Amino acid sequence: MHHLKGENMGDLRKNNRSKILEILLKRSPISRAEISEISGLTPPTITVLVNELFREGLLEETGVETGKQVGRKRIQLQLLGNSKLALGVELGIRQLTVGLINLQGELLRRETLEIREKEPRAVIDRLLQAVRPLLADCPPEKLVGLGVGATGIVDSVSGLVKNSPNLGWRNFPLGALLERELDLPVAVDNNVRLMALGENTFFHNWGSVSRLILIHVGYGIGCGIILNGQLYSGREFGAGELGHTIIMPEGPLCSCGKFGCLETLASGRALTSAYAQKRGDEWDYSKTLRTLLAAGNQGEPAAVEIMDQGGTYMGYGLINLVNLFAPDLIILHGSIFDSTTYTQAALRPVTQNYFSGEEIPIKHSQAGDELVILGAGAMAIQKFLVQNELDAHIAF
Ligand SMILES: [Zn+2]
Repeated sequence: MHHLKGENMGDLRKNNRSKILEILLKRSPISRAEISEISGLTPPTITVLVNELFREGLLEETGVETGKQVGRKRIQLQLLGNSKLALGVELGIRQLTVGLINLQGELLRRETLEIREKEPRAVIDRLLQAVRPLLADCPPEKLVGLGVGATGIVDSVSGLVKNSPNLGWRNFPLGALLERELDLPVAVDNNVRLMALGENTFFHNWGSVSRLILIHVGYGIGCGIILNGQLYSGREFGAGELGHTIIMPEGPLCSCGKFGCLETLASGRALTSAYAQKRGDEWDYSKTLRTLLAAGNQGEPAAVEIMDQGGTYMGYGLINLVNLFAPDLIILHGSIFDSTTYTQAALRPVTQNYFSGEEIPIKHSQAGDELVILGAGAMAIQKFLVQNELDAHIAF
């Protein structure tokens, strides 16, 4: 028998605790036996760690009828929703939103402020202005930390916004600065990646899946990839740029400098520009999008044609993803998918061209525009409660 040194024993215990917390976060309510089955940990180990979580006030028991044995209640465990809280922030192009989130993914409070200037210090001041009232209402011992979703290439390990064309930021140490200002653990990642994390952590209606891709179509196009239960960021955090995969080599010039990227053919920006041009209207993204969606649903030929064309290009992007990753689940997010014409056109190639032939479930997200803040909160819970990376942050 191996005798572990004290330090390793501590690490092992910490790892086992993380494993159990992760399962509870993603699959509550769940029985002790199921936790044992999924984690591979022995029932005595689970008993010890579960008792510890009870003592800390993180868990509750619920009795759930099981279909197999009529009348018999099986005890299940679930995380006590408000026992710990996290703050989630979405740093958008024109506004920032802050939310207070509990362990069950419930959004308890939400504040939105406009961003008037994009200069980093001005944005930070705005962000602090939005966060402070929520902090004042939150008992400090309950708050695990704060997560931020930003557009562009974000180094989620160091909290550095490497390149955000929308904000005009390069190599800006957002995470470190916020930690200093707020005296809280802070984690930062790309906004669309956090949407995938939010879905994977808090929305269990599709069953538990370990390979998930979320596609977001808004002004631009991006995707978040979860492989084996973990966010996949790729080398230098560059993965997920579905919008810049090339669909038409001789196509329109993209903001990235290349030609025929999916974003130039199937994004909200591309569709609204085409529609405004066709009607001779002035282009205003939000306004034109509302008009286009309404006209499309009423069957106006110009709108239907643009949505069908855009959806068809989206379908090429979708089938390429399906053939590359064969995920358990694809989730579609963004108001463009409210258009049945667009969505049906996008799904057509998937049923016709999937090489392996197995059907892949493709669902609409059940979350709206709160998904980034939910994902940002999920990231803070994952890093600072489940993985307990706090030790690394004491250095700040
Ligand atoms: Zn591009």
